[in-house]
Amino acid sequence: METEKTTDAVERLRAYFSAGKTKPIPWRQAQLDALLAMIEERGRDIADALEADLGKAAAESYLTEIDFTKAEIKHLRRHLSSWTRPKRTHTPSYLRPARSYTLLEPLGTVTVIGPFNYPFQLVLCPVAGALAAGNTVIVKPSEHSPATAELVEQLLVEYLDEEAVAVVQGGVEETSELLAQRVDHIFFTGSSRVGKIVAKAAAENLTGYTLELGGKSPAIVEPGSDLKAAANRIVWGKFTNAGQTCIAPDYVLAVGGCEEELTEELGEAVRRMFGNSPAESPDYGRIVNTDSFDRLARYLDDGKAAVGGGRNRDRLYIAPTVLTDVSVDSPVMREEIFGPILPVVPVETLEDAVGFVNRGEKPLSLYGFCASESSKRKLLTRTSSGAVGFGIPLAHCGVPGLPFGGVGHSGQGSYHGKYSLEAFSHRKSVLDKPLMPDTMAFVYAPWTSFKQKVM
Ligand code: NAD
Repeated sequence: METEKTTDAVERLRAYFSAGKTKPIPWRQAQLDALLAMIEERGRDIADALEADLGKAAAESYLTEIDFTKAEIKHLRRHLSSWTRPKRTHTPSYLRPARSYTLLEPLGTVTVIGPFNYPFQLVLCPVAGALAAGNTVIVKPSEHSPATAELVEQLLVEYLDEEAVAVVQGGVEETSELLAQRVDHIFFTGSSRVGKIVAKAAAENLTGYTLELGGKSPAIVEPGSDLKAAANRIVWGKFTNAGQTCIAPDYVLAVGGCEEELTEELGEAVRRMFGNSPAESPDYGRIVNTDSFDRLARYLDDGKAAVGGGRNRDRLYIAPTVLTDVSVDSPVMREEIFGPILPVVPVETLEDAVGFVNRGEKPLSLYGFCASESSKRKLLTRTSSGAVGFGIPLAHCGVPGLPFGGVGHSGQGSYHGKYSLEAFSHRKSVLDKPLMPDTMAFVYAPWTSFKQKVM
């Protein structure tokens, strides 16, 4: 495929947006329909690309990427016309007669920059939101999942109005060049480190942005909760995509002496899901590349592998691992793990767990496996995170009515469903007052003493 220069792509997309082609609701609906047809017809190709990049099992790809994205687009498609209707609001009596309302207007040309870990979903869901909001869009998939990046480019050009979309491929250099262009919004998913680079670049042009970042999402487990069920859910949430999930539980805080029993249950759950030899399991993914593998392999030295611990660099395999005896100052507890290593850290009380979480940056998600409603309330009111999941990790991102995003270092802004429309639009305020009758004479100069008295 011939590569278009980034500057040319931006100019082309700006011109198409300015011509007003992308604003009509039927055009937007047609783009969403085309994306749905694309997923319907090319699901197998998408699953194959994900397998090539990350060793994902097809069933996992359908659940977390292909069908997930389809559901998100269907939801947008179903509600688009009602969500884009003007929203009336009350007009105060001193301004009447008049109408006050807001409406969503597209921002213009927007950039979507994706990460490697869910390289289909995390590019396509924002693209769907951007098009639904009536923008033109430049996509930059991750260079670390090249098969999916290549396929996404082919598919977008084939299925969408190609005048409204451009795909830029590449890594740091190409993304930096893209960030230097003046666009109308930058939607970035990736690490907090690169998020800062994006925010600085956006500031140069006062461009708005959405940052979907990462961090250390804790799972807090209380004794008295069902430890076997909690272990199942945590193992599922942690080891899906070999731990390379932004909202995976990063570590566990085991409250009140439940760490031993919980660690045993975690081991059992790993065996139930991936067998005695996860390296042979068709359902267990691989680490994206040797750089990530080497980083993760170093974490294995930060504690005792109570479960797993095996690795194979040639096969980019790291076993689903539960680490105990971990120092809270070690790298595995200071840095975002983003791989299949789960430290279990004992804390005496729920209060200690709250203190532990609050000493770090605000996480993207916090998971509570609680023994009572008052414990849930404590976690909800005493900590801050992008989202909270009680009894289950990950799944909140599949609830169409919930905004998805972080807070502080885990992100800024949110998306999914109607929040995607808001993210990719400006909500414009309109006051519409007839010129006659002229009810405003009381604010015109001169400020007579009578006027001052009645004001
Ligand atoms: P990353 O930040 O390394 O890369 C993301 C994108 O930024 C890629 O397209 C890459 O090409 C580009 N990039 C990398 N370095 C750059 C630089 N110096 N200048 C300009 N662009 C640069 O992230 P990743 O490794 O692909 O993904 C993992 C991270 O993303 C984790 O921190 C994870 O928590 C986070 N993440 C967040 C979400 C979310 O929805 N909040 C989802 C997935 C991943």
